[in-house]
Amino acid sequence: MRTIIVSIIATSILIACKSKTETMNTSEIFPKGDPLSNDWFTGHAFLKPLIAKDNNNEYTVGSVTFEPGARTNWHTHPKGQVLLVIEGQGLYQEKDKTAQIIKKGDVINIPENTEHWHGATSTTKMVHIAITNFKEETQVTWLHPVTEEEYRSANTN
Ligand code: MN
Repeated sequence: MRTIIVSIIATSILIACKSKTETMNTSEIFPKGDPLSNDWFTGHAFLKPLIAKDNNNEYTVGSVTFEPGARTNWHTHPKGQVLLVIEGQGLYQEKDKTAQIIKKGDVINIPENTEHWHGATSTTKMVHIAITNFKEETQVTWLHPVTEEEYRSANTN
């Protein structure tokens, strides 16, 4: 009986500590969400879906967190995409163009059918809101990963 009570108290303390940690992390605007598949992302990236496509909205809205070194594959959007950077510093690159630094407060309006990638730098985390339009049922076409050489070059521009 005493063991059970001690166990219950210990569990209660653990739960109290965990919820305290979560509520104390006030610098993040949205929760980090769940890990994104390494089929389409390199490194540690996370998605918190915020708005789903519905009768009124022909797009999704999500908060995407990229830990240092994380990035999308190369990809295109049939009706474009808007990125709102809300934390940190990262990179955005369109095919055959120089990668550009993107940072908190930046707004990137990505044209339709334009091959590109986005992500963190090798040393800094980046969080952006992604507003991604649909063309019929498609909002993204995934291509090949950003190679280590491409990523290194983007980080040293
Ligand atoms: Mn994109």
